[in-house]
Amino acid sequence: MNVKASKCKCGCGETPEWPSDYIPGHDLIHRNKLIDRAGGVDKLTELLDQVDIYMAGEIGEGDLAKGIRRLQSKLIVK
Ligand SMILES: [Zn+2]
Repeated sequence: MNVKASKCKCGCGETPEWPSDYIPGHDLIHRNKLIDRAGGVDKLTELLDQVDIYMAGEIGEGDLAKGIRRLQSKLIVK
């Protein structure tokens, strides 16, 4: 069977041993990168809360977009 090797999902460019998606320990690096990218655990939680509320039908796409923009503007604090 020809299995195409895929790169580590953390973005380091290394190739993990199949069938792992990560070089050992890099799943935590990836997790921390995602949290940093979101602006911290609180902002990531807020973002996911917005998605949950949208998926529950409590807000529409316009309000979801506004919520995301509001979160994004909080990230650009100098
Ligand atoms: Zn990696």
